[in-house]
Amino acid sequence: MSDNFSLSDLGSTQESSASFKLPKKASSTPSTTNSPQPRKPAVIVTQLDDMEVVQEKSKKPVEQIDPKYLHADLPSNFYFYDFDTLGVGPVLGFHQAKFSRAAKEKRTRYMVDAVSTLLPEGISAWDLTIPDFYWLLYWIRMTYYTKVQLIHTAVCSNPKHIHRIQQGELPKESLVSVHTLSKSILSEEVFDPKPLEAFLETADLSFLDNSPFTLAPSCITDIVDIEENLLSHENYPEIEYLVDYAGYLQNKDPGIPRLSMQQRCEFVETLTAEDLYTIEQFRTLVSAYGVEESIRFTCPECRAESETKISISAHSFL
Ligand SMILES: [Zn+2]
Repeated sequence: MSDNFSLSDLGSTQESSASFKLPKKASSTPSTTNSPQPRKPAVIVTQLDDMEVVQEKSKKPVEQIDPKYLHADLPSNFYFYDFDTLGVGPVLGFHQAKFSRAAKEKRTRYMVDAVSTLLPEGISAWDLTIPDFYWLLYWIRMTYYTKVQLIHTAVCSNPKHIHRIQQGELPKESLVSVHTLSKSILSEEVFDPKPLEAFLETADLSFLDNSPFTLAPSCITDIVDIEENLLSHENYPEIEYLVDYAGYLQNKDPGIPRLSMQQRCEFVETLTAEDLYTIEQFRTLVSAYGVEESIRFTCPECRAESETKISISAHSFL
């Protein structure tokens, strides 16, 4: 690892986000969006008893949702949040500008900012779990972009077709074809908490006892943190392994701002293979929901049928 690699300066992505919002406290006035504030991480606690207590006191309805907001039922069923309903406002030119910037600069930050400004005061897209965030992008696209025709450029992978190109019978470009996304296949899965709760009842989580951490689902803030602070690091191939675990650790005290990925990676470096396996099991249980989009297409040249997965991006909104 390089000597000047200091991640402790990094990972404060949410503080500099102009549209970052705090979860609304029932008895407090809304805070301004400009001052740095601790965010409410999507934390679930390691002890099942505590978890029930936490949920009981913190689940609250979002009242007085503006009629212009439409309800989006997140596939996590709001299991990881202190709100249990979500209104999403219409997409305006203001948001389109952010999507456009996200597409140009290829930065998730602008996507999260754009989505955040569509949500009611007190709920921030920065706090959403990764499957919920991407599901919400699909929901927004399908709800507010009904007249926009989305296209997908597909590449044929039929070995016979590729062989004909190698033989010089067809141009390389014949592999590429353009299809509209109106025919795409969406598969959605809703979060089932039972296997997770069963796991937490019996799992040995003693490795977290003397640490500030608990297990929590990874959220979109982590993606931005990795993208902006770690991805270009020369040692990323090693860091990549650590973040796959560090993304599932969060402060026991949800009032403390989310720790940087580096601080969490340092802790992961000290864990045993058994501890890592425990986090892996947790990761599987908190990730099995959300949405996947694929398209089935026929190659216009060789008529071979293929199905490819599509990932949603800022371009999908332009
Ligand atoms: Zn083909």
